[in-house]
Amino acid sequence: MTDNSLITLAIEAMQNSYSPYSGYKVGAALLTEDGKVYKGCNIENVAFGPTVCAERVAFLKALSEGERNFTKIAVVGGKNGEIKGAFPPCGVCRQVMREFCNDNFEILIVKGNNKYDTVLLKDLLPLSFKPEILDIK
Ligand SMILES: [Zn+2]
Repeated sequence: MTDNSLITLAIEAMQNSYSPYSGYKVGAALLTEDGKVYKGCNIENVAFGPTVCAERVAFLKALSEGERNFTKIAVVGGKNGEIKGAFPPCGVCRQVMREFCNDNFEILIVKGNNKYDTVLLKDLLPLSFKPEILDIK
């Protein structure tokens, strides 16, 4: 799976965003080590607290299907679905990624105009609190 193919799937996922409050649609496409893709979109809530990011939707879908080994995730977003500017994962999503991904897990952050940055999890969440610290992995 090429990066561009994964980004295309993230854009598809973005179309299902439920974001009536912010107007920001976000999509994610998560690639497993064996080549499966799980898509997610942001799902907002009138109470705000229950809002879930696209990245976590993709991870939770994959995890609930038994997946545990991931390679990379593409993240794309923008006001009213217009891809403009980068949408790096929030702190909560970074911590969820850290639970299941190693330092070299790749995050493709789409910036629009067919451009994206590839960032490693270790650079997005340095000095992270991770399962290895509790000696369970
Ligand atoms: Zn998030």
